[in-house]
Amino acid sequence: MAKYKVSIDKDTCIGCGVCASICSENWKMDDDGKAAYISNDSDLDCNKDAAENCPTQSIKVEE
Ligand code: SF4
Repeated sequence: MAKYKVSIDKDTCIGCGVCASICSENWKMDDDGKAAYISNDSDLDCNKDAAENCPTQSIKVEE
């Protein structure tokens, strides 16, 4: 699997929960009400889906 980097901008995340519901292996909702990234080793496509469906484009996936 290609290496890639995932980041989240907590300033723009509105805590909608879409990423955690689309890609629960890699995303969860944190105590602060924002999304938190769980793993670096999981499915890239799942992270891309989460990034594409985030309404505020807060998730970045760099290959
Ligand atoms: S989908 Fe985007 S705005 Fe919604 S919780 Fe995830 S990172 Fe935050």
